[in-house]
Amino acid sequence: MTPVNRSRAGFAPRLFLIVGAASAGALAAGLLGVTVTNVAASANGRGDLSTMQFEATPPSMPVIAPIAGAAVNEQFGAKGPYWKIAHSGLDFAVADGVPIQAVVDGRIASVSYHRAYGKVVRLVRADNVEVWFGHLSSVLVIPGQQVKQGDVVGLSGSTGNVSGPHLHVEVRVNKLPTNPAAFFFGTPGVPSASPRWAKAYWEDPIDGYSTFKAVKGELKYWPAQPIK
Ligand SMILES: [Zn+2]
Repeated sequence: MTPVNRSRAGFAPRLFLIVGAASAGALAAGLLGVTVTNVAASANGRGDLSTMQFEATPPSMPVIAPIAGAAVNEQFGAKGPYWKIAHSGLDFAVADGVPIQAVVDGRIASVSYHRAYGKVVRLVRADNVEVWFGHLSSVLVIPGQQVKQGDVVGLSGSTGNVSGPHLHVEVRVNKLPTNPAAFFFGTPGVPSASPRWAKAYWEDPIDGYSTFKAVKGELKYWPAQPIK
């Protein structure tokens, strides 16, 4: 299906179903425990996807969930010992080895290893909105690859700074993290503004094989070998 055919009129039922009560206010509070109902995935020709419990045909939705049936178990902006200021993404509860699907069409701008994010895939939509998938156990895409919504980008895991397996999803605009809950559940596909504290998470990405390095106290992308 081409992007042209992805009419907004065609999306709705599922995501709205689960977050029918998720008004703007609910995005700031009370999202914990919300279960993301199944969206859809298309087989991408990479290995055996027969165990995936996704629908065969992706619905025409501006954004889909990265995993079927996963609960949100840590919100954007949460404070705690794991984060230098606050949580820069949204966590989904998931065991090791679960296929993670591209939530939008886009290009794989990088795959890298970061001490906090672990194995992380950076997916960039045509409008330069970035979606990062962190703590993966394995990466199933390569930089430069075009993926369609629903393609599997990797398997969930517990690499990086984690207490256990889960999926960290980050949505970035102008290199800054925004609240993924708005992107997924508010007006799906439309990112929110970055809070002021997010400036501390600014990254200067480059395309291609990349990783992160600390440069004068800030983590920056750096050319490196692809993750095997
Ligand atoms: Zn996280």
